[in-house]
Amino acid sequence: MKTIDHINFHNQKALIRVDFNVPLNEQFQVTDNTRIEAAKPTIDKILHDGGSAVLMSHLGRPKGKDEKFSLKHIVNEVEKVLGRKIKFIPDCIGEDVKKAVAQLKSGEILLLENLRFYPEEKKGDIEFARQLADLGADYYINDAFGTAHRAHASTAVIARFFDKEHKAAGKLLEKEVNAIQKALDKGEKPVTAIIGGAKVSSKIGVIENLLNKVDNLIIVGGMAYTFLKALGNKIGNSIVEDDKIDLAERILKQANENGVNIILPVDVVVADAFSPDAQTKIVSVSDIPETWQGLDIGPETRKMLDKIIQNSKTIIWNGPAGVFEFDPFAKGTESIGLSIGKASEKGAYSLVGGGDSVAAVKKLGLTEKISYISTGGGALLEMLEGKTLPGIAALNE
Ligand code: AMP
Repeated sequence: MKTIDHINFHNQKALIRVDFNVPLNEQFQVTDNTRIEAAKPTIDKILHDGGSAVLMSHLGRPKGKDEKFSLKHIVNEVEKVLGRKIKFIPDCIGEDVKKAVAQLKSGEILLLENLRFYPEEKKGDIEFARQLADLGADYYINDAFGTAHRAHASTAVIARFFDKEHKAAGKLLEKEVNAIQKALDKGEKPVTAIIGGAKVSSKIGVIENLLNKVDNLIIVGGMAYTFLKALGNKIGNSIVEDDKIDLAERILKQANENGVNIILPVDVVVADAFSPDAQTKIVSVSDIPETWQGLDIGPETRKMLDKIIQNSKTIIWNGPAGVFEFDPFAKGTESIGLSIGKASEKGAYSLVGGGDSVAAVKKLGLTEKISYISTGGGALLEMLEGKTLPGIAALNE
């Protein structure tokens, strides 16, 4: 993958696809600027070289032009993070934008309006990509890891209008890819992956790929119940995908053949309703009452997982261990976060990704301890599936 390290941007204009898809509150203020912070090293390098930066991003899921999703709302936060004034233009293609790019001087930054105000962006429309490529920038830089799994106009298609010498991965994209490779392909053994979340169906590809990569595969969250049922447990009202029982059986068999240790919960917190106020009790996975549902892993499981995590040299975590949005069912997810923090302090390499797991790690104040926190959700999952992301492939073509 070509990176920006060997490019000198002196007097050059770089069109950078960033991922500024940040959360806003009702007053349209940015409530989490992680993604803006993550793009800073690339922008700093380009300006430091004496170049200028044209930033383009999407924000939310607008249906056509919609003020609510305007990138004007994030100008102040971008200025705060970058420590300098930026220019904003209320469009992302056309003559006015071209003029603004032409007038951009070394050291200046221009932020374009939301790319998704044009439906062509998500469709990967070639003409729209050509219009972006024609804005007048010398280089196309992709630093939007969070959308690198999409073949959109600005994330992939645009790259074909720049030759190999004039396109590259930004520092965030480079860091993400290196971190995932370090954990997945070059990880010191024992390698442990913890996969949680609601459904097996959304993570089949990840689980199948991990079966060729890891020593321990811990399966928690809602998806564990499909496996527990496949093993003959009665799971009451717990979430289950009955059409994936065969698949769960196949995964368990494959793990056995590959010498991968699959770890499932041994006890769970069950509730008599899907509610934070439900009655709860802790039961073994073989004793889930008929009308109750498992909403978190139990204390025995937490202890067991901690032991495995402490003995691991490489740890990958994606997806919560329970319905952590409800306080009574957050302990499992929090305990996994704490275990990974502790193992990392002792020298293990840890990679955490996905909105829920990252939120847990942040809530627990563990961000400094984790070796790498991915900014990608879907993109990380596709990397964990072993896929080449379109946004990365396009830079090499
Ligand atoms: P995902 O987006 O697939 O990572 O799933 C995250 C969601 O899974 C969270 O909103 C959790 O509340 C939910 N989840 C985790 N464990 C369970 C469970 N035991 N039963 C129902 N939902 C769960």
